Amino acid sequence: MKLVFATHNQNKLKEVQLLLPNHITLLSLDDIGCTEEIAETAETLEGNAKIKADYVTKNYGLSCFADDTGLLVDALNGAPGVYSARYAGEQKNDEDNINKLLKTLTNENRSAHFKTVIALNLNNESYFFEGKVFGTISKKKSGIEGFGYDPIFIPKEFKKTFAELPISIKNKISHRGKAIHKLITYLKTIN
Ligand code: IMP
Repeated sequence: MKLVFATHNQNKLKEVQLLLPNHITLLSLDDIGCTEEIAETAETLEGNAKIKADYVTKNYGLSCFADDTGLLVDALNGAPGVYSARYAGEQKNDEDNINKLLKTLTNENRSAHFKTVIALNLNNESYFFEGKVFGTISKKKSGIEGFGYDPIFIPKEFKKTFAELPISIKNKISHRGKAIHKLITYLKTIN
C-alpha cells in the first residue's frame, strides 16, 4: 500500500521508515512533487495535522497521514505547545528555539512533555492517533543526535537527552514513536 507522509523533513521520514512494516510504501511530499509549504494555521496540534493530511488528499487524491508535534512545558502553562516550531520566530530555527526556552524557563519545575498527533485520511475516513513522552528540560544543551528540542529534553527514567540517545531508543519511547505505533497497529487491522 502506498501512503504519503506529509512532511519535507528527512529526519522524521527516516525515523518513521524504520518503524513501518514492509507492505507499506512510504512517500514523502517531495516524492509526490508537492513542494509547497502547507500553512499550519490551526490553534491545536490536531487541527494542524488535519490541515496537512487534507491538503494532500484533496490536491493529490492520495491516502495520507500528517503529524504535528508540540513541546509542552508545565511551568510555562504548556508553551511553546502548538507554536513549538516558531517559538523564537518565523525563521523556525532549532538553535534559536532552544536558546529562547532555556532563557525563559527560570522555574525550578522543569517538567515537560512532547505530544504528537497524527491525522490519517484513508478511504474517505479520517482518524487521529496520539503519543506523549514525559520528561524534563535540562539546563544546557547536550548531544548531537536527532533534531529540534532533542538536546534539552531528558525523557523520564533516563539521564541523557534525546540527542544523546541512539535513534532506536528514541523511537521506542518517543511521542512520535508511540503515535506511529498506534497508526501502524490500526493499518495492520485493515491491511
Ligand atoms: P513538527 O510538528 O514536527 O513540525 O514539530 C514542531 C516543533 O517541535 C519543531 O520545532 C520541531 O523541531 C519540534 N519537534 C518535533 N518533533 C521533535 C522531536 O522528536 N524532538 C525534538 N523536537 C521535536
